[in-house]
Amino acid sequence: MAHVKLHIPGPVEVSAKTFQAMTQPMIGHRGQGFKDLYGRIQPQLQTLLSTQQRVYLSTSSAWGVMEGALTNLCTKKVLNCMCGAFSDKWFDVAKKLGKDAEALQVPWGSPIRAEQIDARLATGQFDALTLIHNETSTGTMSPLDEIAALKKKYPDVMFIVDAVSSLTALPHRFDDLGIDILLAGTQKAFALPPGLAVFVASPAALAKAATIKTRGYYFDLLEFEKNALENMTPSTPAISLVYALESKLGDFFAEGLETRYARHTQTNQMLKDWATRQGFTLFPEAGFESKTLVCVNNGAKPGGRVIDVATFQKRIKDRGILIDGGYGKIKGTTFRISNMGDETPETIGALIEILDTAIAGL
Ligand SMILES: *Cc1c(COP(=O)(O)O)cnc(C)c1O
Repeated sequence: MAHVKLHIPGPVEVSAKTFQAMTQPMIGHRGQGFKDLYGRIQPQLQTLLSTQQRVYLSTSSAWGVMEGALTNLCTKKVLNCMCGAFSDKWFDVAKKLGKDAEALQVPWGSPIRAEQIDARLATGQFDALTLIHNETSTGTMSPLDEIAALKKKYPDVMFIVDAVSSLTALPHRFDDLGIDILLAGTQKAFALPPGLAVFVASPAALAKAATIKTRGYYFDLLEFEKNALENMTPSTPAISLVYALESKLGDFFAEGLETRYARHTQTNQMLKDWATRQGFTLFPEAGFESKTLVCVNNGAKPGGRVIDVATFQKRIKDRGILIDGGYGKIKGTTFRISNMGDETPETIGALIEILDTAIAGL
């Protein structure tokens, strides 16, 4: 099968080096080899997240932790901040768990603002909040600093934040933010194959979980904490993916985190400039655009150029690259291109040449 390079917003392209790291011999997850492996990456994960808390490894995709966070932290009522397909779905997940859930819905393409959350939390009804930092379906980033600052006013509300498509592309200082859970799947900005999630919990979150009897087992926060104290996971982890994570973290620190963040800003700007140069507008509200992908408006909102996305996508695929043709209810009326992972100004420059060729005459 011919290799089609992924520029969709996850999974993203995985390097040969990462795949190579996964071929290391299997080890027992209760043995010293695994403890040493987790012990080597734990401080790196803590640096990445600017936290003193232990960072947990979950053998699941992000949704496992997104669901588990609610099971562990919500007994009263959850406020689900909704601005796109993933954040909207979190509300459905809360209801499927039997939680009392309220939707804080804004139009797709708008961010969630702190004052909107403040107004709802002020009712005193809530003990949990879900927020997606970077809503991948719409390419919109909500102002996490501003929202996290509310935590001081509502210490008893558990702030659960999904940074699935932003962690490693820009700084997330967990302890400074003061939030309760930060989680990410590793097939997005980490550029690992799917199957692993990382997350961190505040002391307040661990204390809250301890008051809840029906936390389940697989995503029991206290099991993660207890095992992490010994550099282990509650159940058998995807050890090959942990090897891949070790390799990837090595790359992050060799490059330097600040350099990595600047690289994402630069490559993302190149894609935004391309869209503008081609006569498009961007789908997200100005000032709240993602740094890890562009979501290009193609008729979903008034203004800007409109093309036949399916033809555009096919022409690009014929040149060995996959872009995304829009997600959920904005499929076709938007399209998305990712700059997550290992992309550089050179690779994005090469991609832009292909985009320019493929768009001719559309
Ligand atoms: C991809 C994505 C998810 C879902 O991740 P899975 O790996 O499919 O569980 C959740 N949130 C955001 C923001 C995403 O981009």
